Amino acid sequence: MEFDDPRAGQWIEIDGNSLIHNLELFRKTIGKDASLLAVVKANAYGHGLSKIVPKAAEVAEWFGVHTAEEARQIRRLGPNVPILIMGFVPPSELYDLDCNHHLVVSSSQSLEWIASYRQRTGVKLPIHIKVDTGAKRQGVPVDALPKLFDSASQQSIDVVGVASHFANIEDTIEHEFARVQLQRFREALEVVQRELKELPPYIHASCSAAALLFRETDFTLARVGISMYGHWPSRETRLSWSMEHQGDGVNLHPVLTWKTLVGQFQLVDRGESVGYGRTWTARRPSQLAVIPVGYADGYSRSLGNRGRVLIRGRSASVVGRVCMNILMADVTDIPDVSVGDEVVLIGRQGEEEVQVEELASLSETINYEFLARLSPAITRSMV
Ligand SMILES: *Cc1c(COP(=O)(O)O)cnc(C)c1O
Repeated sequence: MEFDDPRAGQWIEIDGNSLIHNLELFRKTIGKDASLLAVVKANAYGHGLSKIVPKAAEVAEWFGVHTAEEARQIRRLGPNVPILIMGFVPPSELYDLDCNHHLVVSSSQSLEWIASYRQRTGVKLPIHIKVDTGAKRQGVPVDALPKLFDSASQQSIDVVGVASHFANIEDTIEHEFARVQLQRFREALEVVQRELKELPPYIHASCSAAALLFRETDFTLARVGISMYGHWPSRETRLSWSMEHQGDGVNLHPVLTWKTLVGQFQLVDRGESVGYGRTWTARRPSQLAVIPVGYADGYSRSLGNRGRVLIRGRSASVVGRVCMNILMADVTDIPDVSVGDEVVLIGRQGEEEVQVEELASLSETINYEFLARLSPAITRSMV
């Protein structure tokens, strides 16, 4: 195994085989007329854009990001695949984009900026119009589509795609609202068909939950994020899946393992307190591992006195508050712990496993947020 920086006191291991396994699972699942778009926004959900992109490009046909800068980074990493920029792009961010950089557009202002980029550079950026079907986030309502298509054609901008996004598909096992949104999207597609005479090539509305549960959301491009990294979008999605399918489940393999080393060993007497705020007091003579990871790295402060880490294949409770760069774990019941022992924060060690879902739920958030907050400064290595 090689690390970018062998001095790193903590590191993230990316399991390339698991990544390929998950992507191939989606490649096989989605319709053969649909392309697979790997969503790599937020530093590839915390996994590290520069590690994920070259590997994922072996299977994924598209990448999806939030910002134009992320799209430029992907281009520098090499693969010359189409990239969908899904977030708001201000005019100052329109530079160094080529005709394989697709923009999702929700306003006539954006169309003007894109038209002026073309006048400046000669580059004709392909655009996808976003339709709001009920998320009230990005997109225009169905009845505003004709006007937006008019201004696109006046400025001779190529509309190559139409997109929407579900509001609550991963939050529930009742999917009526998703069906309402899908129906509105179909109405939008009829409007588009009337405006353009034929549908543009890229029609997309999905996310991991949609791609796992509803084949009719594939259209011609399936946008898969959290599940390409080996995670279910939610327990509800998993439950919905198993209510529909008996037998073997979708076997997603988590891609990321977060590791560090025991930095110091502390002996604590009965009655002594530990850490900031003195929130934990030893009820017996205790042995603590001092671990060089904290909330600045993405180990949520709310895991103080709640989380656990793995050392020598055993589980050790986090005691006291999580500090900015340090946390303490009780290893009294784990024999022979010493400075330099490997610590697993997320992932497996021996028979034990800490899943990111466990840490997310203990810190009252979701796996998406926990992963996305892992500091980009942590060294990532392919294993
Ligand atoms: C993030 C995102 C996705 C991916 O969602 P997952 O639930 O992670 O699969 C898809 N589409 C859009 C527009 C997104 O912003």
